[in-house]
Amino acid sequence: MTKPRDPAAPITDATRVVQAGRREEWTQGIVNPPVWRASTILYDDVADLRANARRDTTHRLFYGRRGTPTQWSLADALTELEPGAEGTLLYPSGVAAIATALLAVLSPGDEVMIPDSAYDPTRSIGNGILKRMGIATRFYDPLVGAGIADLIGPATRAIFMESPGSLTFEVQDVPAIVAAAKARGIVTLLDNTWATPLLFPAIARGVDYTILACTKYVVGHSDVMLGSVTAGPGRFEALRSATYQLGQCVSPDDAWLGSRGLRTMKLRLDEQGRSALAIAEWLKRRPEVARVLHPAMPDCPGHEVFARDFAGPAGLFSVVLRGGSDAGRVAMIDGLAHFGIGYSWGGYESLALPIDPQHYRTVTQWKAEGPMIRLQIGLEDTNNLIADLEAGLARFTAAG
Ligand SMILES: *Cc1c(COP(=O)(O)O)cnc(C)c1O
Repeated sequence: MTKPRDPAAPITDATRVVQAGRREEWTQGIVNPPVWRASTILYDDVADLRANARRDTTHRLFYGRRGTPTQWSLADALTELEPGAEGTLLYPSGVAAIATALLAVLSPGDEVMIPDSAYDPTRSIGNGILKRMGIATRFYDPLVGAGIADLIGPATRAIFMESPGSLTFEVQDVPAIVAAAKARGIVTLLDNTWATPLLFPAIARGVDYTILACTKYVVGHSDVMLGSVTAGPGRFEALRSATYQLGQCVSPDDAWLGSRGLRTMKLRLDEQGRSALAIAEWLKRRPEVARVLHPAMPDCPGHEVFARDFAGPAGLFSVVLRGGSDAGRVAMIDGLAHFGIGYSWGGYESLALPIDPQHYRTVTQWKAEGPMIRLQIGLEDTNNLIADLEAGLARFTAAG
């Protein structure tokens, strides 16, 4: 903003996503923070170079890897969306953000707890690089809630959460888990990609590190890979140190597209959530459907926690079909006119994905009444999507 903001003016999230991160010294009056490209930063003289090296460089031109106003603007905007947060850093993907946050808080001999419903690449970090470094991973029931206190062991250093879970959408009792962790001095991390700070401001709920695959709703247009970690009070320095040592940085062009996407994130999330819920409710009434796993619907494990803690629905959910076969599921998905088939989500276009979550579990069992499909609802007309799914369900049934 060119004009200084009146700090007393009332501001809610709809206004904040439009204004956040647009500091005048970075935009110079331009509406969108411009793309500042840099590797080398030139100094006036040796004294200037030496003085700069002694200063805090998080928001000061130092060397390209530490970013320019383009990256700082997006990082700052994400911090502003998390009341109480200390700072945000950006990563080249959501997985890079998760891996770096875990490496920032864990040391050999430590144990980290990860929910059994976690995104599979997150499980792989635990079973792969962390294990190799002598850090143990204990998977836990995502619905354990306050019962997590009984699972915490002497080596437990961090509790990772993902709410709702990938594929199966269990909503975790984040406040209860955070309370149990705080009582034992344990660090908490949350993959908040589904809700974003707009539906679940995690730092205000006591989470120490909240992580976004910005690839999804922040970017919103399925054309950039990007991740972020936002640190709670007193937690930024450990993250900054690990991030710098690992050489993590993102291109200014990608950060700029992230900022551009952010401006419409509330509008997209509201509309995609509304349309997804209408479609989920329609599906729930269909005889071919056993359960609809959308956190805003009673079928979904943890629905009561969702109703208590979240500001609204997002646009991604799963459907459990009744009986039938994989061939029926394939016929349904392959024939859809308006749904793409692919990974990722959070863009403006609808997607359908066959999922088999039972293969990923180790400490809980996943049982389903039939094949499952995950749907990402985009900005297409809701009734067009429903008609497409209706024809798809007919193909599912016909295939037997
Ligand atoms: C996609 C996704 C990630 C990883 O993000 P990338 O940018 O694809 O690396 C992490 N967590 C969740 C819940 C995701 O859906």
